Amino acid sequence: MQLPFQTYLDALHARLSGMRDGDVASYIPELAKADPDAFGICVVTTDGYAYAVGDSEQRFTIQSISKPFVYAAALADRGRDFVLGKVGVEPSGDAFNSISLNPRTGAPVNPMINAGAIATTSLVAGVDAIEQWQRIESALSVFAGRRLGVDHAVYMSESNTGFRNRAIAWMLRNFGINQDDPMPALENYFRQCALEVSCRDLAFMAATLANGGVHPLTGERAATAGEVESVLSVMSTCGMYDYAGSWLYEVGMPAKSGVGGGIIAVLPGRFGIGVFSPRLDEIGNSARGIAVCRELSRDFGLHVFGPGNTSALALNRVYSGVEAPSRRARPASVTAPLAPHAASIRYLELQGELALDGAEHISRKIAEMATEARHFILDMHRVSGMTPSASNVLHQCARHLEETGGSLVAARLPAMLTLDEIACFTDNDQAVEWCENQILAALGVAPGIPSIVLPGEFALFNGVDGASLARLESLLVRGSLKAGEVLMWAGAGDDDRLFLILTGEVSVLLSRGPRADGGEQRVATLGAGDVVGEMVLLGQATRMATVRADMAVDYLGLSRAAFEQLAVELPQLKITVLDNLARELARKLGQANQLIGALAA
Ligand code: GLN
Repeated sequence: MQLPFQTYLDALHARLSGMRDGDVASYIPELAKADPDAFGICVVTTDGYAYAVGDSEQRFTIQSISKPFVYAAALADRGRDFVLGKVGVEPSGDAFNSISLNPRTGAPVNPMINAGAIATTSLVAGVDAIEQWQRIESALSVFAGRRLGVDHAVYMSESNTGFRNRAIAWMLRNFGINQDDPMPALENYFRQCALEVSCRDLAFMAATLANGGVHPLTGERAATAGEVESVLSVMSTCGMYDYAGSWLYEVGMPAKSGVGGGIIAVLPGRFGIGVFSPRLDEIGNSARGIAVCRELSRDFGLHVFGPGNTSALALNRVYSGVEAPSRRARPASVTAPLAPHAASIRYLELQGELALDGAEHISRKIAEMATEARHFILDMHRVSGMTPSASNVLHQCARHLEETGGSLVAARLPAMLTLDEIACFTDNDQAVEWCENQILAALGVAPGIPSIVLPGEFALFNGVDGASLARLESLLVRGSLKAGEVLMWAGAGDDDRLFLILTGEVSVLLSRGPRADGGEQRVATLGAGDVVGEMVLLGQATRMATVRADMAVDYLGLSRAAFEQLAVELPQLKITVLDNLARELARKLGQANQLIGALAA
C-alpha cells in the first residue's frame, strides 16, 4: 500500500522541482560542480521508518551541517561548562563566515557560525589533530548509522582556498580561545565539512537528535539527552545564520543548513528531515530546502510552539471496579459487603510519552475523583516513556493517597519503565483484586479463604432432590492437582469432564497471543464451590481456556457421557442442572457486557 505521507512527499517534490531560484555555491571551487537541479527529500521517524523521494541517495558534502554534531561531541568530551567558556550560545544575526567575536569575552558568539565551529572542532577529545579527527569522524558516523568518509576533492579545494577561515582561526588564537597552532584543527574543520552524506543520511542524523540521541535503527547512543537538548537549542536560535529568527518564526523547528545544499530539521520525539538541493539563496541556505521545510511545517502543523499534544491525551479512559471487578470468584458473604464500595476503585488507562504535563493532568483527575474513590489503578501498558518529573508526580500522588487510607497501584508496566515505590501488578485483574482486598480489610471482612465444600453444596446442584443427588454423587470421581499443574489446556478436546472444586484455587487463563513472555490474561480465579469446564454440558467439546492450579487442589470430576446416561433416567435432574448453569452464564455475560461498555466509552 502506498503510504499517505509518501504520496504527500512525492507531490511536494514534484511541485518544488519547478523552483529554480538561487545558485550553487562557488566560493569553494569544487562545490560549483554540483548539479543545480538535484533534489532529494527524506523524512525518518523516531522508530526508524524512512520516507524518501528524488535524489535521496545522491552524495554531497555535509558542510556546516557537521557543526551541531561536532558540538555534541565537544560537549560530551569537555562538559558543558568548559565548552560554554570557549563558545557562546547567542544568535549573531551575522553571515556564517563573519569575522566576529564577542567584544566582551573574545569568544565566538555561537557554535553554528564558522568562528564558533572552528573553535568547537579544536575542543573534541584527542591528544593531537589526528586523534581528534578520528573522534569527529566516528562521532558523526554514529549519528548517521554508517561509516562516513571524506570527499577529498572538496576537502582539498576548500583547504587551498579557505583564507577567510584561516583568518578566523588565527583570530581565535589571538584571543586565547585556541592555545596552540590553530592550523591542524582548521584542517579538521575543512575535513568535517567535506564528509560525504546523502539526504537520507542527514534525515537519520536528524532523527537521532529527534530520538533523544539514540539512532533509530542501530540503537546506538550518539549523544545523551542533555547534549541533544543543548544542540537543538543552538540549532533553534543560530542554525540558519542571519535567517534564524525568521526561520523559527515561520517553520519552527531546530534546523541546520550547509552550503553543499543540505538542510536538516528536527521535530523532537517525532522525526528528522533531510533535504538536498544545491541552489542556495543569498544567505547561503538551500532555497528548495527552505521551501520543503516551510510547506511541511505549515501542512502538518509542525511548529514546536504550535498547538501540539494536549496534556489530556495522557489519560485515555477511566472506568471503575463496578464495571471491571476482579475475576476472583468470591462467596456471597464477601461480595455483598464489597459491592457498595466497588465504585471506589478506578482504573486510569494511560498512554503515550508521560511527561510532567501529562502526569499533572492525571494527578488533577485523581484529586477530583478522590472525593468518591480511594483506590486507583494506573494501567500503563500503552505508556511508551516516562520522564523523571512524571514519575515523581505519580509517586507523590501514591504517597498522598496512602496517607489518607487509599492507594495508587500500577498494572502492565512496560519492561523499560520502573516505578520504584508503587506496587506493580502484571495485569489489571491482579491489581483490582489487591484493591478489593484492601477494602475488605478495612471493612474487617475476611476475603473468603476457600474451605472444603460437600458435593451437595455446589450451586450447580441447587434444587436437585436428595435421591437424584445421591445417584449423581456416585458418578463423581475424586482427583487432585499440585500447585502449578494444568487441569486443562485451551484447545484440548479429549476430556469430557467438568470439575467441581472442593479445596484450593485454580486460575482460568487466556494466552495474550504469541508474545515472547508467553503473557497470560487471567479470566477468573475459582475456589471451593466453583465449577470449571462446565461448557462440556452444553456440548462444547473444545476447551476455551487453560486452567491451572494456583495451589494444591482437590476436585470431583463429572463426565458428560455419564451425566447424559443418568439423565435418560432422571430428565428433571438435567433440567435443574442446566437451569443453574444458564443462570450462572447469564451472570457472567452481564459482567462481560458491562466491561465492554466501559472499555468502549
Ligand atoms: N566549509 C564551509 C565554510 O566554512 C561551510 C559553510 C557552510 O556550510 N555554511 O565556508
